[in-house]
Amino acid sequence: FQAIKKTEDKKAAKDLSTYHGVWVFAEQRDGKLMQVAVELLGEGAKLAKAVGCELCAVLCGSGVEPLVSELFEYGADKVYYADAPELKQYTTDAYTKAIYEAIETYKPEIVLLGATHIGRDLGPCLAVRCGTGLTADCTKLEINPETKGIMQTRPAFGGNLMATIVCPNHRPQMSTVRPGVMEKATRTAGRAGELIRLRIGFHEGDIRTKVLEVVKSVKEAVSLTDAEIIVSGGMGLGNPEGFELLKKFAEKLGGTIAASRAAVDAGWIDHAYQVGQTGTTVKPKIYFACGISGAIQHVAGMQKSGLIVAINTNESAPIFDIADFCIVGDLYKVIPAILEELENV
Ligand code: FAD
Repeated sequence: FQAIKKTEDKKAAKDLSTYHGVWVFAEQRDGKLMQVAVELLGEGAKLAKAVGCELCAVLCGSGVEPLVSELFEYGADKVYYADAPELKQYTTDAYTKAIYEAIETYKPEIVLLGATHIGRDLGPCLAVRCGTGLTADCTKLEINPETKGIMQTRPAFGGNLMATIVCPNHRPQMSTVRPGVMEKATRTAGRAGELIRLRIGFHEGDIRTKVLEVVKSVKEAVSLTDAEIIVSGGMGLGNPEGFELLKKFAEKLGGTIAASRAAVDAGWIDHAYQVGQTGTTVKPKIYFACGISGAIQHVAGMQKSGLIVAINTNESAPIFDIADFCIVGDLYKVIPAILEELENV
Protein backbone atom coordinates (compact mmCIF):
# COMPACT_ATOMS: atom_id res chain seq x y z
CA PHE A 1 0.00 0.00 0.00
CA GLN A 2 2.80 2.37 0.88
CA ALA A 3 4.41 1.85 -2.52
CA ILE A 4 1.12 2.63 -4.26
CA LYS A 5 0.60 5.68 -2.03
CA LYS A 6 4.09 6.98 -2.86
CA THR A 7 3.43 6.63 -6.60
CA GLU A 8 0.07 8.39 -6.23
CA ASP A 9 1.71 11.27 -4.34
CA LYS A 10 4.39 11.54 -7.02
CA LYS A 11 1.75 11.67 -9.76
CA ALA A 12 -0.31 14.27 -7.92
CA ALA A 13 2.71 16.52 -7.48
CA LYS A 14 3.49 16.69 -11.20
CA ASP A 15 2.92 19.84 -13.21
CA LEU A 16 2.50 18.48 -16.74
CA SER A 17 3.23 21.81 -18.43
CA THR A 18 6.88 21.58 -17.35
CA TYR A 19 7.47 18.58 -19.66
CA HIS A 20 8.95 19.32 -23.12
CA GLY A 21 10.67 17.47 -25.93
CA VAL A 22 10.62 14.07 -27.59
CA TRP A 23 13.28 11.67 -26.33
CA VAL A 24 14.49 8.59 -28.13
CA PHE A 25 16.45 5.90 -26.30
CA ALA A 26 19.51 5.37 -28.52
CA GLU A 27 20.03 1.66 -27.99
CA GLN A 28 23.53 0.50 -28.84
CA ARG A 29 25.31 -2.85 -28.67
CA ASP A 30 29.09 -3.01 -28.57
CA GLY A 31 29.26 0.65 -29.63
CA LYS A 32 27.04 0.12 -32.67
CA LEU A 33 23.76 1.99 -32.94
CA MET A 34 20.79 -0.37 -33.30
CA GLN A 35 18.67 0.22 -36.40
CA VAL A 36 15.60 0.66 -34.23
CA ALA A 37 17.19 3.78 -32.74
CA VAL A 38 17.46 5.26 -36.26
CA GLU A 39 13.82 4.33 -36.88
CA LEU A 40 12.78 6.00 -33.61
CA LEU A 41 14.66 9.15 -34.60
CA GLY A 42 12.74 9.15 -37.90
CA GLU A 43 9.41 8.80 -36.11
CA GLY A 44 10.46 11.08 -33.25
CA ALA A 45 11.21 13.88 -35.72
CA LYS A 46 7.64 13.71 -37.05
CA LEU A 47 6.20 13.80 -33.53
CA ALA A 48 8.47 16.66 -32.45
CA LYS A 49 7.39 18.67 -35.50
CA ALA A 50 3.70 18.04 -34.76
CA VAL A 51 4.11 19.04 -31.10
CA GLY A 52 6.48 21.92 -31.91
CA CYS A 53 9.36 20.79 -29.70
CA GLU A 54 12.91 19.48 -29.99
CA LEU A 55 14.06 15.94 -30.72
CA CYS A 56 16.59 14.48 -28.28
CA ALA A 57 18.42 11.18 -27.94
CA VAL A 58 19.51 9.60 -24.69
CA LEU A 59 22.61 7.44 -24.95
CA CYS A 60 24.12 5.22 -22.24
CA GLY A 61 27.36 3.27 -22.42
CA SER A 62 31.06 3.38 -21.77
CA GLY A 63 33.33 4.94 -24.38
CA VAL A 64 30.64 5.18 -27.05
CA GLU A 65 31.04 8.91 -27.69
CA PRO A 66 31.49 8.46 -31.50
CA LEU A 67 27.77 7.63 -31.56
CA VAL A 68 26.91 11.15 -30.39
CA SER A 69 27.76 12.74 -33.75
CA GLU A 70 25.94 9.90 -35.51
CA LEU A 71 22.82 10.76 -33.49
CA PHE A 72 23.09 14.43 -34.46
CA GLU A 73 23.44 13.41 -38.10
CA TYR A 74 20.28 11.31 -37.76
CA GLY A 75 18.35 14.36 -36.56
CA ALA A 76 18.79 14.66 -32.79
CA ASP A 77 18.90 18.32 -31.68
CA LYS A 78 20.34 17.32 -28.30
CA VAL A 79 22.05 14.19 -27.05
CA TYR A 80 21.99 13.33 -23.34
CA TYR A 81 24.99 11.07 -22.83
CA ALA A 82 25.68 9.01 -19.71
CA ASP A 83 29.18 7.53 -19.86
CA ALA A 84 30.21 5.21 -17.02
CA PRO A 85 31.88 1.78 -16.67
CA GLU A 86 28.66 0.59 -14.99
CA LEU A 87 26.82 1.28 -18.27
CA LYS A 88 29.14 -0.75 -20.51
CA GLN A 89 26.82 -3.74 -20.49
CA TYR A 90 23.08 -3.31 -20.14
CA THR A 91 21.70 -4.01 -16.68
CA THR A 92 18.19 -3.04 -15.65
CA ASP A 93 19.31 -1.19 -12.51
CA ALA A 94 22.11 0.86 -14.05
CA TYR A 95 20.20 1.97 -17.16
CA THR A 96 17.01 2.65 -15.20
CA LYS A 97 18.90 4.80 -12.70
CA ALA A 98 20.75 6.78 -15.40
CA ILE A 99 17.71 7.48 -17.57
CA TYR A 100 15.31 8.01 -14.68
CA GLU A 101 17.58 10.68 -13.22
CA ALA A 102 17.82 12.36 -16.62
CA ILE A 103 14.03 12.29 -17.02
CA GLU A 104 13.52 13.78 -13.56
CA THR A 105 16.02 16.56 -14.32
CA TYR A 106 15.12 17.46 -17.90
CA LYS A 107 11.45 16.37 -18.03
CA PRO A 108 10.76 15.10 -21.56
CA GLU A 109 7.15 15.01 -22.70
CA ILE A 110 7.48 11.83 -24.78
CA VAL A 111 9.97 8.96 -24.40
CA LEU A 112 10.30 6.30 -27.12
CA LEU A 113 12.19 3.01 -26.80
CA GLY A 114 12.54 0.10 -29.24
CA ALA A 115 10.48 -2.96 -28.35
CA THR A 116 13.69 -4.99 -28.21
CA HIS A 117 14.66 -7.25 -25.31
CA ILE A 118 16.35 -4.27 -23.67
CA GLY A 119 13.55 -1.79 -24.41
CA ARG A 120 10.90 -4.19 -23.16
CA ASP A 121 12.79 -4.54 -19.89
CA LEU A 122 13.85 -0.92 -19.45
CA GLY A 123 10.59 0.78 -20.52
CA PRO A 124 8.34 -0.66 -17.78
CA CYS A 125 10.99 -0.08 -15.08
CA LEU A 126 11.33 3.57 -16.10
CA ALA A 127 7.56 4.03 -16.28
CA VAL A 128 7.11 2.70 -12.74
CA ARG A 129 9.90 4.90 -11.38
CA CYS A 130 8.41 7.96 -13.12
CA GLY A 131 4.88 7.11 -12.00
CA THR A 132 3.58 7.17 -15.57
CA GLY A 133 2.10 4.74 -18.08
CA LEU A 134 3.72 2.81 -20.93
CA THR A 135 2.19 1.51 -24.16
CA ALA A 136 4.16 -1.51 -25.29
CA ASP A 137 4.83 -2.75 -28.83
CA CYS A 138 3.37 0.23 -30.73
CA THR A 139 3.09 0.08 -34.52
CA LYS A 140 1.75 3.61 -35.06
CA LEU A 141 2.23 6.92 -33.24
CA GLU A 142 0.39 10.15 -33.93
CA ILE A 143 -0.07 13.51 -32.24
CA ASN A 144 -3.62 14.55 -31.49
CA PRO A 145 -3.74 18.06 -33.01
CA GLU A 146 -6.08 19.34 -30.27
CA THR A 147 -4.51 17.97 -27.10
CA LYS A 148 -0.96 17.65 -28.53
CA GLY A 149 -0.91 14.31 -26.69
CA ILE A 150 0.40 11.17 -28.33
CA MET A 151 -1.97 8.50 -29.66
CA GLN A 152 -0.23 5.14 -29.43
CA THR A 153 -1.58 2.31 -31.55
CA ARG A 154 -0.68 -1.34 -31.02
CA PRO A 155 -2.11 -4.71 -32.06
CA ALA A 156 -4.30 -6.37 -29.43
CA PHE A 157 -5.96 -9.78 -29.14
CA GLY A 158 -3.46 -11.54 -31.40
CA GLY A 159 -3.60 -8.78 -33.99
CA ASN A 160 -7.38 -9.04 -34.42
CA LEU A 161 -7.90 -5.42 -33.42
CA MET A 162 -5.76 -2.31 -33.16
CA ALA A 163 -5.97 -0.47 -29.83
CA THR A 164 -5.20 3.25 -29.63
CA ILE A 165 -4.00 4.29 -26.18
CA VAL A 166 -3.54 7.77 -24.72
CA CYS A 167 -1.82 8.94 -21.55
CA PRO A 168 -3.62 12.22 -20.71
CA ASN A 169 -2.75 12.75 -17.05
CA HIS A 170 0.85 11.70 -16.63
CA ARG A 171 4.24 12.59 -18.05
CA PRO A 172 6.33 11.51 -19.77
CA GLN A 173 4.15 9.64 -22.25
CA MET A 174 6.12 6.46 -22.94
CA SER A 175 6.01 3.90 -25.72
CA THR A 176 8.04 0.94 -26.85
CA VAL A 177 7.92 0.66 -30.65
CA ARG A 178 8.23 -2.46 -32.76
CA PRO A 179 11.53 -2.60 -34.67
CA GLY A 180 11.22 -2.53 -38.45
CA VAL A 181 7.90 -0.67 -38.54
CA MET A 182 8.84 3.03 -38.61
CA GLU A 183 10.72 4.81 -41.41
CA LYS A 184 14.41 5.33 -40.65
CA ALA A 185 15.70 8.88 -40.23
CA THR A 186 17.81 10.14 -43.11
CA ARG A 187 21.42 10.97 -42.29
CA THR A 188 22.85 14.44 -42.91
CA ALA A 189 26.63 14.33 -42.75
CA GLY A 190 28.17 16.99 -40.51
CA ARG A 191 24.88 17.99 -38.84
CA ALA A 192 25.63 19.14 -35.27
CA GLY A 193 23.67 19.52 -32.04
CA GLU A 194 24.05 20.07 -28.32
CA LEU A 195 25.73 17.42 -26.17
CA ILE A 196 24.64 17.24 -22.54
CA ARG A 197 26.72 14.97 -20.33
CA LEU A 198 24.81 13.20 -17.59
CA ARG A 199 26.73 12.71 -14.35
CA ILE A 200 25.42 9.54 -12.75
CA GLY A 201 26.73 8.72 -9.28
CA PHE A 202 26.50 4.97 -8.80
CA HIS A 203 26.59 3.77 -5.19
CA GLU A 204 27.08 0.33 -3.74
CA GLY A 205 23.87 -1.63 -3.97
CA ASP A 206 22.50 0.44 -6.90
CA ILE A 207 23.19 -2.40 -9.33
CA ARG A 208 22.00 -5.73 -8.04
CA THR A 209 23.18 -7.85 -10.98
CA LYS A 210 26.56 -8.42 -12.59
CA VAL A 211 27.14 -9.51 -16.20
CA LEU A 212 29.59 -12.41 -16.07
CA GLU A 213 29.58 -13.38 -19.73
CA VAL A 214 27.72 -12.40 -22.91
CA VAL A 215 26.57 -15.38 -24.96
CA LYS A 216 25.02 -14.22 -28.23
CA SER A 217 21.69 -15.87 -29.00
CA VAL A 218 20.81 -17.07 -32.47
CA LYS A 219 18.43 -14.13 -32.72
CA GLU A 220 21.18 -11.57 -32.22
CA ALA A 221 23.39 -13.36 -34.70
CA VAL A 222 20.52 -13.39 -37.22
CA SER A 223 19.54 -9.68 -37.05
CA LEU A 224 16.74 -9.90 -39.61
CA THR A 225 15.78 -6.26 -39.04
CA ASP A 226 19.15 -5.08 -40.37
CA ALA A 227 19.29 -7.40 -43.41
CA GLU A 228 19.05 -5.76 -46.84
CA ILE A 229 18.28 -9.00 -48.68
CA ILE A 230 16.15 -11.78 -47.19
CA VAL A 231 15.48 -15.17 -48.71
CA SER A 232 12.53 -16.60 -46.83
CA GLY A 233 11.21 -20.16 -46.98
CA GLY A 234 7.88 -21.75 -46.13
CA MET A 235 6.13 -25.09 -46.21
CA GLY A 236 6.70 -25.22 -49.96
CA LEU A 237 10.27 -26.29 -49.15
CA GLY A 238 8.82 -29.66 -48.23
CA ASN A 239 11.56 -30.47 -45.72
CA PRO A 240 14.12 -28.77 -43.43
CA GLU A 241 16.95 -29.52 -45.86
CA GLY A 242 15.35 -27.04 -48.25
CA PHE A 243 16.80 -24.24 -46.12
CA GLU A 244 20.29 -25.34 -47.25
CA LEU A 245 19.37 -24.31 -50.81
CA LEU A 246 17.98 -20.99 -49.51
CA LYS A 247 21.18 -20.44 -47.49
CA LYS A 248 23.27 -20.95 -50.62
CA PHE A 249 21.04 -18.50 -52.50
CA ALA A 250 21.14 -15.93 -49.68
CA GLU A 251 24.92 -16.18 -49.34
CA LYS A 252 25.32 -15.61 -53.06
CA LEU A 253 23.25 -12.42 -52.75
CA GLY A 254 24.90 -11.28 -49.52
CA GLY A 255 21.66 -11.72 -47.59
CA THR A 256 20.20 -13.85 -44.85
CA ILE A 257 17.49 -16.50 -44.64
CA ALA A 258 14.15 -16.26 -42.87
CA ALA A 259 11.01 -18.37 -42.58
CA SER A 260 7.26 -18.52 -42.25
CA ARG A 261 5.74 -19.57 -38.96
CA ALA A 262 4.54 -22.85 -40.44
CA ALA A 263 8.15 -23.78 -41.23
CA VAL A 264 9.18 -22.78 -37.69
CA ASP A 265 6.30 -24.72 -36.15
CA ALA A 266 7.32 -27.76 -38.20
CA GLY A 267 10.68 -27.59 -36.40
CA TRP A 268 12.60 -26.92 -39.61
CA ILE A 269 14.26 -23.73 -38.37
CA ASP A 270 14.65 -21.68 -35.17
CA HIS A 271 11.94 -19.18 -34.20
CA ALA A 272 14.56 -16.41 -34.40
CA TYR A 273 14.15 -16.57 -38.19
CA GLN A 274 10.37 -16.17 -38.20
CA VAL A 275 8.89 -13.24 -40.09
CA GLY A 276 5.39 -12.01 -39.39
CA GLN A 277 2.91 -10.88 -36.83
CA THR A 278 4.27 -13.17 -34.13
CA GLY A 279 7.83 -13.05 -35.45
CA THR A 280 10.01 -10.22 -36.66
CA THR A 281 8.86 -7.30 -38.83
CA VAL A 282 11.36 -6.81 -41.66
CA LYS A 283 11.90 -4.14 -44.29
CA PRO A 284 14.78 -5.31 -46.51
CA LYS A 285 15.53 -3.92 -49.95
CA ILE A 286 14.58 -7.30 -51.48
CA TYR A 287 12.45 -10.06 -49.93
CA PHE A 288 12.27 -13.44 -51.66
CA ALA A 289 9.22 -15.46 -50.55
CA CYS A 290 9.95 -19.06 -51.55
CA GLY A 291 7.15 -21.58 -51.09
CA ILE A 292 5.22 -19.18 -48.85
CA SER A 293 1.48 -18.84 -49.46
CA GLY A 294 1.19 -15.23 -48.20
CA ALA A 295 -1.10 -15.58 -45.18
CA ILE A 296 -2.07 -12.22 -43.67
CA GLN A 297 0.00 -12.87 -40.53
CA HIS A 298 3.12 -13.43 -42.65
CA VAL A 299 2.46 -10.46 -44.92
CA ALA A 300 2.08 -8.19 -41.86
CA GLY A 301 5.77 -8.71 -41.19
CA MET A 302 7.25 -8.17 -44.67
CA GLN A 303 4.87 -6.09 -46.81
CA LYS A 304 6.98 -2.94 -46.42
CA SER A 305 9.98 -4.58 -48.12
CA GLY A 306 11.41 -2.55 -50.99
CA LEU A 307 10.91 -5.28 -53.60
CA ILE A 308 9.06 -8.56 -53.14
CA VAL A 309 9.87 -11.57 -55.32
CA ALA A 310 7.59 -14.59 -54.84
CA ILE A 311 8.28 -18.11 -56.06
CA ASN A 312 5.28 -20.39 -55.80
CA THR A 313 3.84 -23.33 -57.74
CA ASN A 314 0.30 -22.08 -57.21
CA GLU A 315 -0.48 -19.12 -59.45
CA SER A 316 -3.42 -18.17 -57.19
CA ALA A 317 -1.28 -17.97 -54.03
CA PRO A 318 -2.12 -14.72 -52.13
CA ILE A 319 1.59 -13.81 -51.95
CA PHE A 320 1.37 -12.90 -55.65
CA ASP A 321 -1.12 -10.13 -54.76
CA ILE A 322 1.63 -8.15 -53.02
CA ALA A 323 4.67 -9.36 -54.98
CA ASP A 324 6.48 -7.09 -57.46
CA PHE A 325 7.88 -10.11 -59.33
CA CYS A 326 5.80 -13.29 -59.50
CA ILE A 327 7.56 -16.50 -60.48
CA VAL A 328 5.12 -19.38 -60.91
CA GLY A 329 7.17 -22.54 -60.57
CA ASP A 330 8.87 -25.10 -58.38
CA LEU A 331 11.43 -23.36 -56.16
CA TYR A 332 13.72 -26.38 -56.53
CA LYS A 333 13.91 -25.61 -60.24
CA VAL A 334 13.72 -21.79 -60.12
CA ILE A 335 16.41 -21.14 -57.48
CA PRO A 336 19.08 -23.42 -59.01
CA ALA A 337 18.37 -21.76 -62.37
CA ILE A 338 18.89 -18.27 -60.85
CA LEU A 339 22.08 -19.50 -59.10
CA GLU A 340 23.37 -20.82 -62.40
CA GLU A 341 22.70 -17.45 -64.05
CA LEU A 342 24.48 -15.67 -61.19
CA GLU A 343 27.53 -17.92 -61.67
CA ASN A 344 27.80 -16.51 -65.19
CA VAL A 345 27.59 -12.87 -64.09
P1 FAD B 1 1.47 -22.76 -46.56
O1 FAD B 1 0.38 -21.81 -46.25
O2 FAD B 1 1.27 -24.18 -46.37
O3 FAD B 1 2.04 -22.40 -47.96
C1 FAD B 1 3.00 -23.14 -48.65
C2 FAD B 1 3.08 -22.59 -50.07
O4 FAD B 1 4.13 -23.22 -50.77
C3 FAD B 1 1.82 -22.77 -50.89
O5 FAD B 1 1.40 -21.53 -51.40
C4 FAD B 1 2.24 -23.71 -52.03
O6 FAD B 1 1.58 -23.43 -53.24
C5 FAD B 1 3.72 -23.41 -52.12
N1 FAD B 1 4.54 -24.51 -52.64
C6 FAD B 1 4.45 -25.86 -52.41
N2 FAD B 1 5.45 -26.52 -53.00
C7 FAD B 1 6.20 -25.59 -53.65
C8 FAD B 1 7.38 -25.66 -54.43
N3 FAD B 1 8.03 -26.81 -54.65
N4 FAD B 1 7.86 -24.51 -54.94
C9 FAD B 1 7.27 -23.32 -54.73
N5 FAD B 1 6.14 -23.19 -53.97
C10 FAD B 1 5.62 -24.31 -53.42
N6 FAD B 1 2.71 -17.04 -40.11
C11 FAD B 1 3.89 -16.45 -40.35
O7 FAD B 1 4.57 -16.73 -41.36
N7 FAD B 1 4.39 -15.54 -39.45
C12 FAD B 1 3.73 -15.18 -38.32
O8 FAD B 1 4.24 -14.37 -37.54
C13 FAD B 1 2.46 -15.77 -38.06
N8 FAD B 1 1.73 -15.45 -36.97
C14 FAD B 1 0.51 -15.99 -36.78
C15 FAD B 1 -0.30 -15.56 -35.70
C16 FAD B 1 -1.55 -16.09 -35.53
C17 FAD B 1 -2.37 -15.59 -34.37
C18 FAD B 1 -2.03 -17.07 -36.43
C19 FAD B 1 -3.40 -17.65 -36.25
C20 FAD B 1 -1.27 -17.51 -37.47
C21 FAD B 1 0.02 -16.98 -37.69
N9 FAD B 1 0.82 -17.38 -38.76
C22 FAD B 1 1.99 -16.75 -39.00
C23 FAD B 1 0.48 -18.55 -39.60
C24 FAD B 1 -0.14 -18.17 -40.94
O9 FAD B 1 -1.53 -18.03 -40.80
C25 FAD B 1 0.13 -19.27 -42.01
O10 FAD B 1 -0.36 -20.50 -41.50
C26 FAD B 1 1.60 -19.45 -42.36
O11 FAD B 1 2.17 -18.21 -42.68
C27 FAD B 1 1.70 -20.37 -43.58
O12 FAD B 1 3.05 -20.66 -43.84
P2 FAD B 1 3.52 -21.09 -45.30
O13 FAD B 1 3.16 -20.01 -46.26
O14 FAD B 1 4.94 -21.48 -45.17
O15 FAD B 1 2.71 -22.41 -45.55
